[in-house]
Amino acid sequence: MAERPVLYRFDSLECPGLVHGVTLRAGGCSEGRIAGLNLGHTVGDDPKAVDRNHARLYAELNLEPGQVVSARQVHGAHVARAAAAHGGSSLPDTDGLITDEPGVALLMRFADCVPVLLYDPVRRAIGLAHAGWRGALARVAGHTAALMVQELGCEPAQIRAAIGPSIGPCCYEVGPEVASAARAAFSRRHELLSREQASGHAHLNLWAAVSLQLREVGLVQIEVAHLCTACRTDLFYSYRREGTAAGRMAAILCLRPSGV
Ligand SMILES: [Zn+2]
Repeated sequence: MAERPVLYRFDSLECPGLVHGVTLRAGGCSEGRIAGLNLGHTVGDDPKAVDRNHARLYAELNLEPGQVVSARQVHGAHVARAAAAHGGSSLPDTDGLITDEPGVALLMRFADCVPVLLYDPVRRAIGLAHAGWRGALARVAGHTAALMVQELGCEPAQIRAAIGPSIGPCCYEVGPEVASAARAAFSRRHELLSREQASGHAHLNLWAAVSLQLREVGLVQIEVAHLCTACRTDLFYSYRREGTAAGRMAAILCLRPSGV
């Protein structure tokens, strides 16, 4: 059965000039515990199935594999500028990608961490960031937006940000070290932490942490999917619920060449 990938799409990014989406589990050929559209090669899945899943995703979006620039994500805050010359490769030690080259598709993998998609329709530039708690506290999404401003000449107020499906404050309990690191990184703890316990455990709101750092850079257009991957393992893979071998979803975006 040739099931097609299912993509979550943001209203604010539905533009003729942009291809974008965040994959769900549905529409893939991986089997067993990882059944669905697993896009991670490092989680014990059959590599041929993962390749077929990538091929399905690219076909769905009318992209060629040679257009896609991905990243070997390390939960850091390094942001790289992607170019057509990087097509088909994966940039090392990178958790943020930007480009203003039409036809260059940015792709990153997720299972609970926050996909942050950025699009400036005026300057015609895009960015993509991967933010788990380490990346969120290191402001990787803010750095990605800031590099679009510095290197690509974007106006912060023109950049549309979209915060994709990822672990929500409902499910993301963290230990005392992470909770205190969050308090130290941001002043607005009432937005970031809830259910704080005497033991120091608390629930961390990564969506708020990402929104705060985008607002620090001057962004005002921020759409949040408000979909928790750990609540909805029927729809998504979840590292918190399924462990290190959880499947991986992808966020992808690409400026369409004008006239296409
Ligand atoms: Zn949840």
